[in-house]
Amino acid sequence: MICEMCGKDVPATRTVIVEGSRLNVCPGCARFGEDYKASTASGAPLTQSVIEERLERRERRMRSKDIYAGTSSIEIVDDYGGVVRAAREAKGMDLEQFASLIQEKKGTISKVESNSLVPDDKLIKKIEKALGIKLTETVQSGAVVGSGGNGNKMTLANFIKKS
Ligand SMILES: [Zn+2]
Repeated sequence: MICEMCGKDVPATRTVIVEGSRLNVCPGCARFGEDYKASTASGAPLTQSVIEERLERRERRMRSKDIYAGTSSIEIVDDYGGVVRAAREAKGMDLEQFASLIQEKKGTISKVESNSLVPDDKLIKKIEKALGIKLTETVQSGAVVGSGGNGNKMTLANFIKKS
């Protein structure tokens, strides 16, 4: 295979992002670019790309949090809409039933479930109570604390970084 950066003929190339464009390069040139996440291009299982996407979003958020080192805040979880929808469907309620249960407009719930409306604290509490779920997490200077499962997330993150 020909390296698209230096033109050398090598047994295998790696796909990296160099200044926004995707290049297949030799291992020597790969260090000039950023690893291209091949999940969408190579037809990897959907779950894999979803996990990577979430990890990336989490990492981005952690990085932005690093600026405010030492602070902690309660944040709504990624894909809160998906969490709400899954929990509602698990209880066998349609949008209308759920909306009337917590005395909200159907349109409001629909927007929340499509992640296009971030519920305020009051609504979060209502939804959490009605569905028995948790929609928030505490983010503290780059680390996610609370609500268990933290070890799992770290293992996954490390796994993705290594691969
Ligand atoms: Zn090269």
